[in-house]
Amino acid sequence: MSKVRIGVLKEAPERKLTVLTPAGVERLKGKADVLVQRNAGGAAGFTKAAYEAAGAKLADTEEELLEGSDIILSYGHRDFRGSYNGQKTFIGIYNFLWEPHKVDLYLQPGINVHSLDLIPRTTLAQSMDVLSSIGSISGYQAVLLAAERSLATVPMITSAGGTLRPARFLIMGAGVAGLQAIATARRLGAVVKAYDVRKASKEEVESLGATFIEVEGATDDRNAGGYATTQTEEYMKRVHERLLEETAAADVIITTARIPGKKAPLLVTKEMVMGMKPGAVVVDLAAATGGNCAFTEPDQVVIKDEVTILGPTAIESSCGYSTSFLLSNNYVAFLEYLLKHQENLAQDPILSATLVVQDGKLVNERLMALKAPAN
Ligand code: NAD
Repeated sequence: MSKVRIGVLKEAPERKLTVLTPAGVERLKGKADVLVQRNAGGAAGFTKAAYEAAGAKLADTEEELLEGSDIILSYGHRDFRGSYNGQKTFIGIYNFLWEPHKVDLYLQPGINVHSLDLIPRTTLAQSMDVLSSIGSISGYQAVLLAAERSLATVPMITSAGGTLRPARFLIMGAGVAGLQAIATARRLGAVVKAYDVRKASKEEVESLGATFIEVEGATDDRNAGGYATTQTEEYMKRVHERLLEETAAADVIITTARIPGKKAPLLVTKEMVMGMKPGAVVVDLAAATGGNCAFTEPDQVVIKDEVTILGPTAIESSCGYSTSFLLSNNYVAFLEYLLKHQENLAQDPILSATLVVQDGKLVNERLMALKAPAN
């Protein structure tokens, strides 16, 4: 029986990573033939020679890659409408919950699509959890970005000229990215406080040596799969009052609060920014889904009253080698699982959760519940 043919697309230039490294190609040996678009890993530090040594073949163009693959891997979308026939499975991190109309790119007979941001947060699926990989790198990188932008040093420094006090970091949203931001800021010597709507995060925050800011009255949705849910207006008002004081004292704020498929909650209001210290920095990791700060502009540097607000939407690309390493392991784990369980696409808990399009039709219930895709 011929082996399945897996193709790896080169990402857009701003995304300096790949979802399958040469080590990933090695892991698939014996199970699949791998075709890699020329220079697909170049921006992340993986050479053509390394891919070839791992057993991959190279494709010169997207068309050649598409033609020679049954399963096509990428991070982002590519518009291939009308340029192929037959059975293809696309696997990516397509973020359809935020951009449901993008499903239209795949509504063609013979096409299956799995979006890995829909992987359930279960123990069985942990090795495939791309959002955790991206979150960890983003949280780490956000601290470095803030430290670089800040006018003051992060750790306490005692020197001949006097003593510099440690920077105060405030982390909002203590999920995967937030916890990694706390750990990184602590390693740099910052004094860290954190806030999350999920009470369950208190223990994790404290175990990293940060102070948890508690605001009573949050709505906890046990059916949200470990994620947060939209909060009442009254609760958000209480949060605002409590955080006014905390934001005024902070040198750096890193926000990571997101709600799957919804606009990110507004946590850092205009009033808060106006009350912050001159030279303070806000890094808003929710910029791609509306932002947690009132002044955030995606991928722009905004300066308001001498406070710098950054809204990077692909911060994980700034350490493309490490991000690719993690994502490649996630993709290989998913591919191995898919090849083993593909007869059971609609019933399997992991495959059915990630399956968005089957034979050219939208089949994902979470997506169907959102507004219908635009034509
Ligand atoms: P996320 O990226 O969706 O959100 C980031 C954080 O923002 C979350 O902690 C969320 O509670 C918080 N948030 C949302 N609205 C907020 C508001 N109004 N105010 C303050 N904070 C707000 O979440 P995530 O980082 O991907 O993780 C979500 C959960 O999933 C966590 O409990 C995490 O531990 C869990 N998780 C489980 C697994 C697994 O079991 N395999 C893997 C990864 C994450």
